[in-house]
Amino acid sequence: MQCYVCDGEMSKVQKDVETTWKGKTVVFKGLSVYVCHSCGEEAYEPDDVKAMQYFIEGAIKQDNYPEIMNVEEVADFFRVSNQTIYNMLREGKLPAVKVGREWRFSREKIRAMVNQTEQLEQPAGIAARDDGLGLSKKDADIIARHLSDM
Ligand SMILES: [Zn+2]
Repeated sequence: MQCYVCDGEMSKVQKDVETTWKGKTVVFKGLSVYVCHSCGEEAYEPDDVKAMQYFIEGAIKQDNYPEIMNVEEVADFFRVSNQTIYNMLREGKLPAVKVGREWRFSREKIRAMVNQTEQLEQPAGIAARDDGLGLSKKDADIIARHLSDM
C-alpha cells in the first residue's frame, strides 16, 4: 500500500489507537494500522473506521441520558412509544421505581437490560436492530466480530 500523502511505502502494524471525541478519549487496542515509512502518516482499515464510529456514537448517545431516567427518556432510548413503556411497566418487564405518581428508571439498569438482550440474541440481534445508524448486515457482522475479540 502507498501513502496518500507522500507516496511512500506503508506497512501494516498492530497498535493501539487513541482518539478524542467531544472531550472524551477512547482507546481501541490492537487495531491493524498502515504506517508510512517516510512521513509517519497512519491509515486505518475501512472496517475498523466503521467499528470505531459505531462505538463512539453509541457511547456518546448513552451518555446523554441522566442517571435517573423518566418514561419519555426510556421510550426514546428504546425507540418505542411512551405507551409501550407503560405496557412493559404493567407487565413488570422494566426495572423501575414509582416516585409519587411518576415512574423513574436507573440508567445503569436499563443499559444492563439491553446488554443482556444483546448477549442472548447475538449476532442476529445486532443485525436485526435498527438503531438509526443505518447498519448494514455486513457492518453488523464486522461489529459482532470486534465485540467477540474484545
Ligand atoms: Zn507518507
